[in-house]
Amino acid sequence: MHTELVAALDIGGTKIAGALVDGSGGILVRTQRPTPAREDGETVMRAVEGVLAELTAGPLWPSVRAVGIGSAGPVDAARGAVSPVNIPGWRDYPLVERVRRAVDGRPVTLVGDGVAMTAAEHWQGAARGYDNALCLVVSTGVGGGLVLGGRLHPGPTGNAGHIGHISVDLDGDPCACGARGCVERIASGPHLARRALDAGWRPGRDGDASAAAVAAAARAGDPIAQASFDRAARALAAGIAATAHLVELDIAVVGGGVAGAGEVLFAPLRRSLRAYATLSFVRDLTVVPALTGTDAGLLGAAAAACGPLTAEKQGA
Ligand SMILES: [Zn+2]
Repeated sequence: MHTELVAALDIGGTKIAGALVDGSGGILVRTQRPTPAREDGETVMRAVEGVLAELTAGPLWPSVRAVGIGSAGPVDAARGAVSPVNIPGWRDYPLVERVRRAVDGRPVTLVGDGVAMTAAEHWQGAARGYDNALCLVVSTGVGGGLVLGGRLHPGPTGNAGHIGHISVDLDGDPCACGARGCVERIASGPHLARRALDAGWRPGRDGDASAAAVAAAARAGDPIAQASFDRAARALAAGIAATAHLVELDIAVVGGGVAGAGEVLFAPLRRSLRAYATLSFVRDLTVVPALTGTDAGLLGAAAAACGPLTAEKQGA
């Protein structure tokens, strides 16, 4: 018998996932539907309400005591609003209020997707047991989050740890955010793949020019593909080192599709981290792959909704 459950929502540009999660991170019920990302805001909200309706109609719903939302950003957790870059119909959209209406007034917690992934890794993944961690998601963008002093540190608006928009190349290429030389502008999957193409790498017969295809070429020894991953790794390492100098970290955890490249990314990442993190208090920093995979968003939303409770349960 599950006495206390949390409902989790993971909202991204391609799908809206929902789940009921128990106190040990077990996912008991799950559902998802595509995000109608090109439609107006109300249409997107109806998709969210559809996911919630499936959860609230089930026999376990009366055991749900709180709702956690991890959303593509930027989010404004203080105001309960979201403005996801890849969902144009939502600008300052009052998501928390709308969800609260659909869940009979249960408490609703909102965090950005990078913070959600961090909460998941701290609860169930590679950052478990570490009091000071930076977790990164490297995929179509680069996001992240922080655990400081043993607690998730979302910041006032829920965006703290957003390492993708630290500039590591002062005169670098313009970034979508308006700045230049951001970590994301160099290390995200699309930018990493574009760099390989610009340098003369050509996809195989299947025409696949994704970061995963570049990773396969790098693994097979293609020097241009390897150089593209090396450049991405240097950008990530510079951002991780900067963060470690600012707040002191025990561990950095890297997940997302680009991290799926494995040693093609992690070998140059470790090497570059040694080059950029040299002082005594940062040079022992380790960087490891994330463990929570595609459920990170749901687990993290659940963890963010019941952080203190989760910590107590784990200690028990
Ligand atoms: Zn940027």
